[in-house]
Formats: sequence, C-alpha cells, structure tokens
Amino acid sequence: AADPGDSKKPDYLVLKDIVKDFVDGSGGIVRAVNSVSLSVSKGEFVTLLGPSGCGKTTTLRMIAGFESPNGGTIQLDGKDITQVPPFQRNMPMVFQSYALFPHLTIFDNIAYGLKLRGVSREEMRHDVAVASQMVNLVGLEKRYPGELSGGQQQRVALARALVLKPDIILFDEPLSNLDAKLRIQTRTEIKRVQQLLGITALYVTHDQSEALSLSDQIVIMNKGEIVQQGPPEAIYNEPNSPFVSDFIGNANFLDGEVVDVQNDQVTLSVGPARFTLPGSRCPGDIRSGEAILLSVKPEAIRVTGSAGTGAELSGKIDVSAFVGPITEYKIIFGDGIITALQPNRPGKTHVYRSGEEVALEFEVESLRAYRA
Ligand code: ATP
Repeated sequence: AADPGDSKKPDYLVLKDIVKDFVDGSGGIVRAVNSVSLSVSKGEFVTLLGPSGCGKTTTLRMIAGFESPNGGTIQLDGKDITQVPPFQRNMPMVFQSYALFPHLTIFDNIAYGLKLRGVSREEMRHDVAVASQMVNLVGLEKRYPGELSGGQQQRVALARALVLKPDIILFDEPLSNLDAKLRIQTRTEIKRVQQLLGITALYVTHDQSEALSLSDQIVIMNKGEIVQQGPPEAIYNEPNSPFVSDFIGNANFLDGEVVDVQNDQVTLSVGPARFTLPGSRCPGDIRSGEAILLSVKPEAIRVTGSAGTGAELSGKIDVSAFVGPITEYKIIFGDGIITALQPNRPGKTHVYRSGEEVALEFEVESLRAYRA
C-alpha cells in the first residue's frame, strides 16, 4: 500500500555541481556542462533530453567514467566515484552504434564482461542464457553480429549489459540507428526489461517521444544546464519556459497582451479573442497592458468549419497532412503559421484541404503565458 510519508526514495546516483570544459580547435574553452546537479533513485528510469550540443552525452560519459569532470562530484550509493575508472564502475553503456565485437559470436559478445570477471564456465552459460531469453535472442547465440538485424544487434548490446547485473545501465541514443517501427518495438522491450528487473537506467536522447514514453523522470538540458526536471506528465503539461514548451510540446507561440489581472486570474487577448488563465500558468507580477507570449499546443487547437460564423479566430489551411490517427495542419494565422493536430474519427471529423478558411478554437486549459 502507498505510504504517504515515503513519496521520495533515497538517492542512489547523485551528481553535484558537475562542470566539464573542452578545448576547441582554436584553443578556446567550451563549457559543455555547467553546474549540473541531479539525483536518481534506485530502480528509476531517468532520461536526459535536449537538443544537439546541450551536454547530455558528456554528462552520461562522466557518469560512465569516460570523461573526468573539471568540477563537482559523482556519488553512487553514498560513495564518491568521481575518480573511479570506468572498468571499476558497474555501469555498462549501450551505444547508438551497438559496439559489438564483429569477430565474436553472440554468445561470446554477451559473455564478454563475465569472462573479464573470471566467472566460471557454468555460471557464464547460465547467466548468458537468462539474459538472452530476457531480450528474445534464444537460438541466435552461435551467429555473428553481421548476421543479425539492427534491432537484434541492439538487443545483444542490451543483454551484454544486463548479464553484468549492473548498478546502472547507461543508454546513449540506443535507438537512433533503427527504423521507426523497430525503434518503438525496441523501446518497449527496453522498458519491459527495466521494469521487470527493477534496474536503474540513465538514458540520453533528443527524441521527445522516447523520453516521454520511457521515463520516470525527464531532465531537460539546454546549453550545458538543466532547465527543468520532473515526471513526463508534469514536464509536458507544465513546461516552465518557452524553450521547454517548444522542445517537448512543439507549442505554437502567439503574441498577446494582458488585459486584466484579478484574484489570481489573468485575462489575455490574442487578436479579438480573450482567454482567462489562472495565475499559475502566467509569469508572476504581470500587469495589464504588458505584452506576453501565449503558448498553444497543436493538439489544443480545434479546427472547425468555415470562418465568418462568428468565430473569433480564423485561419487558412496552408498544408493538410492526413496521417491516419491524426491530421496535421499548417495554418496561416495572422502573420505566421501555426500547427494544429486533429484526431480523426470517421463520420465525426472532416479533413480540411489546403486553401480552406477555418475557424479556430483554443482549449483554454492547456494555454500558458510567458513573458514576451
Ligand atoms: P548530441 O546529441 O549532438 O550528441 P549532446 O547534447 O550530447 O549533443 P555533447 O556531445 O555533450 O552534447 O556536447 C556538448 C558540447 O561540448 C558541444 O558544444 C560539443 O561540441 C562539445 N564537445 C563535446 N565533446 C567534445 C570534445 N571531445 N572536444 C571538444 N568539444 C567537445
């Protein structure tokens, strides 16, 4: 049963004020990671998410011990491991490129770390069999990596990590080389095994749907710093900045103005439309007359029949893309283009075509305002 006093599990992996500088080609210093502090509990799946160059891979590599931080400490289970070499940390990494040994069989690839540990032949056979079964590789043990598909090779890499009974598994964009369908299958597989074994996992990706679907906690990084962290729903529904709103929710940003602030209710105008939001979804201390940026998620825009029927907001379909479960619209709105996603329900929804005038309604519950 849930114990209300036990909402936060004890910290397992703790990063404190981690800094990493690199020297670039012209002798200048690049701060790749700037004062990153982070706590991961045992059994948690934590994802570092952010755009290219934000420092997520460098952070993961410091946790693995492949890079040494210029400042700060890394602790595992209360012990300082900042200076411990990678082979003495029980934190295998699963790479985007699989990094299997091409001249070794699948069995020997999976058994590799156990051999280095001097495990008996019998124990090795047993552990490799368990790991192979766990990731559905049974029957492929005698093959070589070149004789497997990309998805199977990545499952070998996962089995090779699992067999070590790791303290933490580190994943560096492991699905990037797989095609769309296999990416989703393998993602489900990773999550299933992680949950089953209660493994602590740290996962790096720039793919928001991977982060949302896999994680207990998402850590969003930008320019070497953590800008927000929390469970997927909290990050998605309560982004704390336009950057996060855009990165995780592909939000549209519209120029608006504060019309009125009363009893923690803020009324905003966008063109002729008015929206009243609770203060919690607006910047603090905003005043009437101030310019704001309104974030509107694509799925929070309802596209309906022809404009001119008294609708306050209207636009013109620029591009209409029917993709099965949803239709994605690019809509000319004011001086810009906004994106709207509509679920398709046969007989109930209509797919509008390029050039059609449409009325637009914004779901007020999902709007957020930021300082312009
Ligand atoms: P990506 O998704 O593209 O891998 P990332 O978020 O993982 O991006 P990092 O690879 O951690 O980002 O890089 C962060 C910054 O540090 C970048 O500006 C990068 O150019 C720089 N950097 C990373 N490794 C080195 C290195 N060995 N030497 C110099 N600069 C580096």
